[in-house]
Amino acid sequence: MSYCECPERAAAHFRGIYGPDTRASFSGGLAHRVFARHLDQGEIESVQFEQVCREEIGSSNLNYKVAALGLKPSALGRVIEEVGLLYEKFKRLPAEGYEASEVFFEIEPTAGVSLVGRIDAVFDEDSGYKLVDWKTGALGEVALQLGFYAMLWALDRGELPGGIEAISVATGERYAEVPSRSGVQETAERVARMIDALRLAWETGSDLDRRGGPWCRYCPVLDGCREGAAAVEVSG
Ligand code: SF4
Repeated sequence: MSYCECPERAAAHFRGIYGPDTRASFSGGLAHRVFARHLDQGEIESVQFEQVCREEIGSSNLNYKVAALGLKPSALGRVIEEVGLLYEKFKRLPAEGYEASEVFFEIEPTAGVSLVGRIDAVFDEDSGYKLVDWKTGALGEVALQLGFYAMLWALDRGELPGGIEAISVATGERYAEVPSRSGVQETAERVARMIDALRLAWETGSDLDRRGGPWCRYCPVLDGCREGAAAVEVSG
């Protein structure tokens, strides 16, 4: 997904260079922890909600982000309130067939290449396993991301998932697909082309394409990137 937006930014991520943490990503990360806890352990009572959020922060890498973002207790309290509003919406979503949350995959299809992904939730339905990705903002373009999850699942399990779906808890938007063999094959070919391009760039020291967009603002290599500077200026 990141590669499709801007290959050069994706290359930075693959080298372990990331942009600054943001309040939105912190809030989204906390919401995902709360959703997973709800599905695994049942509904969280309102009176316990703040304490549960603090436990989830303390037991995860969100703890480091509180310091990195310089979140004061009052600001953290506002984030917890916002996550609470999202949780009220999340509780209304059906949970029948729930199987597992935050399902992590790391697959090595060939030497030196690891394909890594984390699927928010898996549901066991009549048509097969459905892979679900929760969004805490607008839905955005999700087809490539879901296609990548379907490919990971197929590589790991040896069969296609019955469905893939992205749901914006914030807006109620949904995108769903039934994966096909040809679609998974197409994703695998796209990933192979990306790996070839990254390897070539690293071997030859050449630059990859730079594509400016809203993502530039948080790009770790924005400094010194002409395309990124132009994109940030246009977006204000
Ligand atoms: S600043 Fe924008 S255009 Fe430049 S590398 Fe980063 S994402 Fe790409």
